[in-house]
Amino acid sequence: MGIALPSYDEASALVSARARGLGRTQPATTVQRISLVAAAGRVLAEPLIADRDQPPFARSTRDGYACRAVDASAHGWLALDGATRAGQAPSGPLLPGTAWEIMTGAPVPAGADAVAMLEHVDATEGRVRLHDARTVSPGENIVPQRAEAAAGAEVLTLGTRIGPAHIALAAACGYAAVPVFARPLVAILSTGDELVAVDSVPGPGQIRNSNGPMLAALVEAAGGEPWILPVAGDTARDLDDAIAAASKARLLLIAGGVSAGKFDLVEEALARAGALFHFTGVRIQPGKPVVFGEMPAAAEAGAAQSVLPFFGLPGNPISSAVTFLLFAAPVLAELAGSIESGPRFALARLAAGCKGKAGLTRFVPAHFCFTPAPGELPEVSAVGWQGSGDLTAFARSNCFLCVPEGVDRIEAAAIVRILLC
Ligand code: AMP
Ligand code: MG
Repeated sequence: MGIALPSYDEASALVSARARGLGRTQPATTVQRISLVAAAGRVLAEPLIADRDQPPFARSTRDGYACRAVDASAHGWLALDGATRAGQAPSGPLLPGTAWEIMTGAPVPAGADAVAMLEHVDATEGRVRLHDARTVSPGENIVPQRAEAAAGAEVLTLGTRIGPAHIALAAACGYAAVPVFARPLVAILSTGDELVAVDSVPGPGQIRNSNGPMLAALVEAAGGEPWILPVAGDTARDLDDAIAAASKARLLLIAGGVSAGKFDLVEEALARAGALFHFTGVRIQPGKPVVFGEMPAAAEAGAAQSVLPFFGLPGNPISSAVTFLLFAAPVLAELAGSIESGPRFALARLAAGCKGKAGLTRFVPAHFCFTPAPGELPEVSAVGWQGSGDLTAFARSNCFLCVPEGVDRIEAAAIVRILLC
């Protein structure tokens, strides 16, 4: 009798707890300083600080006329007494009863508390007047100095995974280069006697190794540095050698060879390498044979690292992808120093009924539309698939539809959880 497998929730909680531990006990990851333009996808190793107020001056958000709201809303003519354009400091304060021409992004002169939009005024011969149908309130069309951040404030937290918005903010604060963590090296080992490299012509019964490149892409997207090892055959010797070669990585992914078949030898090889198993199977479909554990790491000169976490991912490509996203990606995010460790779930409305599976949480390849009708959730449909080896179905999907354990069937129009790829 085998040990009862954990449910998805139990396995997920175990992975999160262990991931946090691994993130803490790993050696202080090397910090690199890289050019801001190359920083997308990297993880910030120090907080970023505003070097000046943001915005650095009260900024007009419109082309129009800087004025005092109370003057303009009285609808009398205001004398045009100055102008300020983007890139210029105002030459003096705005006097009561006057207006200044102003452009979007220009500093608002002292004394003005609003900007009347160009489209909302009559302007002739050195004077302007707000249209009768319009009023303007104090603060309108102005972002006050410091409204976004004060000089010296932390604008980005250590552990932020850098995206385009963070790059823009860092640029505004003067960071031409940013401190980031080195990406953790992730060894990717595909196993199976049937596998040949992508640039080979497969012989009878052989297939190309599609998991290696797919997992490399998933690793990159999750913040790791992929290291694709040569394919290992289904022999104890091949697996022992490959696992030994991989042990200088920070995380090891082994795809294939973890099911119950005669040539599924990965668990035994991991055990020979001194593995401690956290789980050897989870109540999910696809991906039920997924394995998670840790083994002693290579004692490299100077390396403080003592354990190598590993995942054994079932070889069918959809199973490999789902188990990576659910379990390996959160561990990798922690090793990368990221404060967001996923997996990423969202809600969608089911287009057509979908069956559950007794005793398992299902993750069905599905497609959801990014353009829901106003007020509606995105609609999600399962893509038709020929099981977890169906790469063409996988390529038509952009998420996985989650059918929790204990649910026989979810009816059309129900709100469901989806796992984003
Ligand atoms: P396994 O997990 O080794 O039992 O493999 C399950 C299925 O996935 C089999 O049909 C394998 O041929 C297939 N498979 C295993 N590894 C890969 C791989 N790297 N690329 C493509 N298919 C694979
Ligand atoms: Mg196999």
